[in-house]
Amino acid sequence: MKIFTTKKEITDYFNRKPVKVIGFVPTMGALHKGHLGLIELAKQQSTQVVCSIFVNPTQFNDPKDLEKYPRPIADDIRRLEEVNCDILFNPQVTEMYDDNEKWHFELGDLEHLLEGKFRPGHYQGVTQVVYKLFNIVKPDVAFFGQKDYQQVMVINKMIEKLNMPIKLVMCPIEREADGLAMSSRNIHLTPYDREHSLVLSRTLNWVKENFDKAKIAELQQQAAQLISAEPGVELEYFEIADGKTLHPATEASESFVALVAARVGKTRLIDNVLLN
Ligand code: AMP
Repeated sequence: MKIFTTKKEITDYFNRKPVKVIGFVPTMGALHKGHLGLIELAKQQSTQVVCSIFVNPTQFNDPKDLEKYPRPIADDIRRLEEVNCDILFNPQVTEMYDDNEKWHFELGDLEHLLEGKFRPGHYQGVTQVVYKLFNIVKPDVAFFGQKDYQQVMVINKMIEKLNMPIKLVMCPIEREADGLAMSSRNIHLTPYDREHSLVLSRTLNWVKENFDKAKIAELQQQAAQLISAEPGVELEYFEIADGKTLHPATEASESFVALVAARVGKTRLIDNVLLN
């Protein structure tokens, strides 16, 4: 695997050696099977796969979360080599940002719904870094996880609005055997938190099994109650949303997704399930 830390290195590399289909998997590292699933899918659909590892400061609205975000780069490199990733792009913050850079991308309602409401500015940081990464890597196909469903919609909107020649692929959520969605933040869960975190996937499954368009409000309310009743779990939102707009679903919606965010102990977790 080639490892590049500067924009110039990666640009020079692709200028010397044009590639038919560049597949790109942006990450913040602390790689787990969810990330590796994205790389594997990218391998199948691309000539060369670039993975980026960059803990992007502008998307963190909580400085403590940024500070304690895991950065096990040696383990990450080993994992990427095991799945035959072709290129790792692992820049420093100064390579990606000048001091006091300004950025605003008009996201409409997506900015303030769900994650946007609980993490103000988060998607501005996400679009800022992904825009930069897309310009550096120049991918033909970019792979993002359904785990961050709203993020996929945000990136899709950016690609469409800016007419970027990039195909977006959404990859399914990888879970632990007991249902917990894999996340780099799971290492912060204490054994007690870990046990109680299961209420999230359990409730999402229950909603999927019982999904009925006519009973959206009722299901949502019961799901929120189940989660709120779990010890050590503080619910931020549970929403059955329209799969296209992320507005609260109505009977007229064509696709449905249930999304949840909660604090489990000191760790904030998100998860979701497609309902049809
Ligand atoms: P992150 O490193 O958390 O920024 O995630 C990098 C990419 O991996 C994003 O597109 C995430 O949606 C995706 N991802 C994270 N966790 C999972 C998971 N459990 N299953 C599938 N994709 C995931």
